[in-house]
Amino acid sequence: MTASPARLRVAPSPTGDPHVGTAYMSLFNLAYARATGGQFVLRIEDTDRARYVASSEQQIYDTLHWLGLDWSEGPDIGGPYAPYRQSERLDTYRPFVDQLLEAGHAYYCWCSTERLAELRAEQQASKAAVTGYDRLCLGKTREERAQLPGFSETPVVRMLIPDDVELSFTDVIRGEVSAPRPDDQVILKADGFPTYHLAVVVDDHLMGITHVVRGEEWISSTPKHLLLYRWLGWAEPAFAHMPLLRNTDKSKISKRKNPAARLTWFVEQGYLPEALRNFLQLLAYPPVVEGEDVASFEEFVAAFDWAKVNTTGPIFDLAKLNALNGHYIRALSADELGDRVVEFAVREGQWTQPSEHDDALLRKAVPLVQERLVLLSEAVPKLAYLFTPDAELEIDPDALAKTGPDAAAVVAAATTALAGLGEWNHEAIQAALREALVEGLGIKPKFAFGPVRLAVTGSNVSPPLFESMELLGRESSLARMAKLAARL
Ligand code: GLU
Repeated sequence: MTASPARLRVAPSPTGDPHVGTAYMSLFNLAYARATGGQFVLRIEDTDRARYVASSEQQIYDTLHWLGLDWSEGPDIGGPYAPYRQSERLDTYRPFVDQLLEAGHAYYCWCSTERLAELRAEQQASKAAVTGYDRLCLGKTREERAQLPGFSETPVVRMLIPDDVELSFTDVIRGEVSAPRPDDQVILKADGFPTYHLAVVVDDHLMGITHVVRGEEWISSTPKHLLLYRWLGWAEPAFAHMPLLRNTDKSKISKRKNPAARLTWFVEQGYLPEALRNFLQLLAYPPVVEGEDVASFEEFVAAFDWAKVNTTGPIFDLAKLNALNGHYIRALSADELGDRVVEFAVREGQWTQPSEHDDALLRKAVPLVQERLVLLSEAVPKLAYLFTPDAELEIDPDALAKTGPDAAAVVAAATTALAGLGEWNHEAIQAALREALVEGLGIKPKFAFGPVRLAVTGSNVSPPLFESMELLGRESSLARMAKLAARL
């Protein structure tokens, strides 16, 4: 990689539960920063006070950290360009607003929100060819404007978009792109806060951002941003607009319609962060090695190239994510999986205050289900029979109804064999049951253990039987068999 060290940022707005797109952008931003030996910055864009949600900022930190997408500068850790929270930078923006006003690139607008709403309604009703702000305030003093209707005491500041505004620009991913003509964009609101458009340009410039990588929905804003760069006499950064993530029906992923649009959803469901990270790496981007979905972040970084990004909105396919999650679960050591399952179960309330015995039992039992787990959340329910008191274990009625005529004899023979067994481990249990049931009773191996499984686990589908019995212990296993025997 010969590119010079790049500075990139992700700039989420804390408006609620963080969107999966924020993680997607962060991943690609961080990858390029790493690939060039540069930096990745987190900036909180909280200038929209109407949409501000206080808990959102911490959720952004938590979910991005959970994914291992770590920043080297941000509001929580500071850095050379602090503060990194826009609401703390209001003094920074104001002088640039004044500079634009003085140069005639911007003007005050006193139009009330009611007037603007009426204007919009009229334009819509008359299907006007030219829409947007009608520049009623342009060139007027406060006194002149105050004589006219729809006047508001506190003005906003608008950009004066020139007739010959450049509407096309070169995008790192898309090449030449063009956008529609912008309206006279508000850059300073009546509450004294800048809008996103001013703040993003000022901050990206002052923070030395070399590449602005963001979602496709910002393409239409880029001509305004480029004007601001030009007017303020600043070199413009490179722009790269990533495709929007889509649902399987091709609609844009939204938090309202799709739970998977919320980053916290993945944490709650029991996805592994490495699986989600790997999945995001494959959205609109080819696998590092053709035909091989699994790749580490380091491998992704080593082969990173903007030219590989596909501009067609990628489908967010949960089946693929589930397959990756299963893969990463199987790749964990038994100890690590135990840690993750216990941490998940306690955090998500599947398990309240486990005793030391139960905690140890769960860790020992987790390898029994490792091969079949898709999500961490499935482990505790799949192993619940191990934690149920013998007397309370429910027997699946359908499975009970399906037991064959041999069931009582099987349970009786198994009970005798296991009661006298020397060492209690799964190999010995299996050998003793095989001898008693397959050889002793002459039942085919396929059917021989069914009634024992039903007695011990309450179901005819369960994690490995002999290992389960080893974990339960002799006393509990025999108690469960006696309980089933009484019902046969
Ligand atoms: N605050 C914007 C957002 O929430 C950032 C857009 C950008 O990266 O320029 O999407």
